[in-house]
Amino acid sequence: MRCQNCGCELEKKITDLPFKITHDSIIIIKKLPVLQCQNCNEYLIEDPVMKKVENILCKVDKTAELEILSYAAV
Ligand SMILES: [Zn+2]
Repeated sequence: MRCQNCGCELEKKITDLPFKITHDSIIIIKKLPVLQCQNCNEYLIEDPVMKKVENILCKVDKTAELEILSYAAV
């Protein structure tokens, strides 16, 4: 798959990403598998991974200001 931004080859990477779910609530998901561009660092989350992320974000405590979860643990 190629980068939507610059057209370079994307590389599979494991990274930690923050997701803002409400105005003052942020969830950090650790060890998330993404595709990242080697050229411009733009990243892409594949559909099955994004579905799982959405599931995680639905279940988290939205009253917490910051929560850190591991993708592998859910
Ligand atoms: Zn790129």
